[in-house]
Amino acid sequence: MVTILIAINQSGEVVFLNGKKTHQELLSFKKNNRFHCPQCKQKVFLKVGTIKIAHFAHAAKETCSSFSEPESLVHIQAKLQLYHWLSEKHLTVEMEKNYRLFNQRADIGLSVNGKEFAIEFQRSALTSTHFLNRTLGYYNHGIIPLWLLSHDRLSAPKPHKISLTSFHQQFIRYSKTLKQFYLLSYDVQSMSFIIYQLYFPLTKTTFTYSVSIIPLKNIHFPQFPLVKLHLTEQKLNPFLKYRVKWGDSRLLYGKGHVDPLLQRMYSSGLSVQLLPPWVGLPVRGAIEINETLMEWQSFLYVFIHNRSVSNCPFLLTDISSYINDFITSRKIACSPFELSRKIDKPAIIQYVELLVKMKILNREDDYFSLNENNPFTKIEHIQHKERIYDRFHQEVTQVIIDHYNCSGL
Ligand SMILES: [Zn+2]
Repeated sequence: MVTILIAINQSGEVVFLNGKKTHQELLSFKKNNRFHCPQCKQKVFLKVGTIKIAHFAHAAKETCSSFSEPESLVHIQAKLQLYHWLSEKHLTVEMEKNYRLFNQRADIGLSVNGKEFAIEFQRSALTSTHFLNRTLGYYNHGIIPLWLLSHDRLSAPKPHKISLTSFHQQFIRYSKTLKQFYLLSYDVQSMSFIIYQLYFPLTKTTFTYSVSIIPLKNIHFPQFPLVKLHLTEQKLNPFLKYRVKWGDSRLLYGKGHVDPLLQRMYSSGLSVQLLPPWVGLPVRGAIEINETLMEWQSFLYVFIHNRSVSNCPFLLTDISSYINDFITSRKIACSPFELSRKIDKPAIIQYVELLVKMKILNREDDYFSLNENNPFTKIEHIQHKERIYDRFHQEVTQVIIDHYNCSGL
């Protein structure tokens, strides 16, 4: 049942339930008017209750396709809160803005300094195709969409990690100025934006994070204050330690000869249990890759190892074209420019730069090759593994942190 806050009455007048009418006013309003939906023209009913916010409801089971989701009380509250916040800032704001040209309707449409924005507050799951089509609908008409995830849709994060399903991940945005990823959510209860800043993925659906809670009134649209990501040992260490055992479970749960990673490792004479300690290091761009750090860097290890065996230095573009066969990009909120970008994932460049800093890779002009003389380059025996990892962590943790905190800035 699609509920709305704007309808047309029998005289063709636009009626906006702005949350400020009294109960009596609403009741007499209801008695003396008939309403229809401005989008689908179907009859809608004014619902006045003591608990719920007054709204218009389509008749049950009838569909109104212009919105991205069936509305709920939380959705209506969010729309009103955001609407009043934006209009108090003297911006040109329109509730339930109708874009007839491409048959979409945003919760709120507004323009700021000649730029048009469409705000979509989202609670219900939306397929990635639907999400993408709506996003492109806006971009194709010069409008910037701002997707806000309803905070009640996130499960409570743990101190060191947050779980984000592929639905949640669609709300991840990228700040070009700070070169970092964040997820924008809005909480109706506290009337605040809750911003999760993401460091790196732990698994496909969990991330290290830091959070900021910013009351609506402290934000000047469209500037969302982001805190510069700052990786610390405290955040990094548990993850570095976890890597030591990763190979064992990867082997256990792998799919044998049809497993692309295990199969490639096997045919190159490598073992997933003997991964060197420089495989699986966090870099800023890694959020963009829809794979764990261990997984995509293991593929790179196979590539680098094979090039070393055949004594054949490589270019960054060689790595990109190799790795693109095995990894996909995460589906996050991005602009058409980012959608059309195929290779040159910043994560790969940042990782290769880090390996050069650690002297795992040698660099000569644009060519890279494995430094066979570095004691961390490979692990020969399983019984040496923990000792080598420990020494590696002692020696390079600060290099990893510095590289992470400075990358791309
Ligand atoms: Zn309708």
